[in-house]
Amino acid sequence: MLEIRGISKKFGDFEALKGVDLHIGAGEFFTLLGPSGCGKTTLLRMIAGFEAPDSGEILLEGKDMVGTPPEQRPVHTVFQNYALFPHMTVAQNIAFPLQMARVQADEIDARVQQALDNVHLPDKAGAYPAALSGGQRQRIAIARALVKRPRLLLLDEPLSALDAKMREQMQIELINLQKEVGITFIYVTHDQGEALALSHRIAVMNQGKIAQLDQPAQLYNHPNSRFVADFIGQCNLLEATVTDSDRHHADLELHHIGPVRVSLAPAVTVTKGQRCLLTLRPEKIRIARNLHALVDETHFCGKIHDTLYLGDVTVYKVELAQGILLEALLANSGNHASERFAVGDSVEVAWNSSAGHLIAEP
Ligand code: ATP
Repeated sequence: MLEIRGISKKFGDFEALKGVDLHIGAGEFFTLLGPSGCGKTTLLRMIAGFEAPDSGEILLEGKDMVGTPPEQRPVHTVFQNYALFPHMTVAQNIAFPLQMARVQADEIDARVQQALDNVHLPDKAGAYPAALSGGQRQRIAIARALVKRPRLLLLDEPLSALDAKMREQMQIELINLQKEVGITFIYVTHDQGEALALSHRIAVMNQGKIAQLDQPAQLYNHPNSRFVADFIGQCNLLEATVTDSDRHHADLELHHIGPVRVSLAPAVTVTKGQRCLLTLRPEKIRIARNLHALVDETHFCGKIHDTLYLGDVTVYKVELAQGILLEALLANSGNHASERFAVGDSVEVAWNSSAGHLIAEP
């Protein structure tokens, strides 16, 4: 549906986008994710038509959009700050784009009501924006965006002004809405949790380039670089050197810690002597005072360096060697209730050979 080919953009001497290529399918919920300044908003603004690339093509259903003004693109953008007209009612706000397009009055009424139903606010037609909660205002902004039936809906950090509870509720509503209306969504966020929760696919951006493009679980479990592993969720990154390997396994010497065996994902190949990075998610690590290592597990001794009680889980930072900390996450209740540890306790940690993911370092 949308094809982006070799898009580059400079602001003065600063290269904001460095040759970005993307294919986005019809009906996809696609997210551009990355830290502040990585270029995601610039890319979104180019798709909307608010910014022109220095070079490259933006093809929407095969037609090059570069040079087409925003209002002539079958695209609509929802911004973080809602951008509703305060002196107009909800219905007037939603009707506005249709009036601009000279749609007939009775059709406008029907489409406004349909848009209000889509965002589950059928009774708010007569309300003014000031009388709505932040979440309701954002739903109205989305309803206004949907009313012209765009082929592509662009959402620029639309939930970042909402509190955590409202954000979670809106995330669920966005997933359902996107399924219901079937429109392609391109969503910009710097919040990795939000990206994982919402998206069919995510492009992680760094310094004007796409660092990795994958489905959420693939990004989380198989990051392709130190940057992606670190940016998506909590992750232990352990420096290592390969001591031996075959197609399915690698034996590593973890620097300052000791030897460990890991399973290799199909796309990963390493050779003896190569430096690499073992990425280990905190929830994949077992920790106990006396741990009976299972088949296929590696275990090490350490000392509790810090604890962080978070209610449902506790985060333990375990010092495995001078200055080398490993973060482990243990459940506090239910069937998975874990032992409690205090700073200074001696413990053992273990993980399965398939728990970690290996990244070959250049
Ligand atoms: P954020 O999450 O902070 O919005 P972002 O990833 O969306 O970040 P962009 O807004 O795309 O980043 O900006 C990318 C880089 O380009 C930033 O360093 C920004 O300062 C710069 N930039 C963006 N627009 C302009 C402009 N009009 N003039 C000069 N520099 C710009």
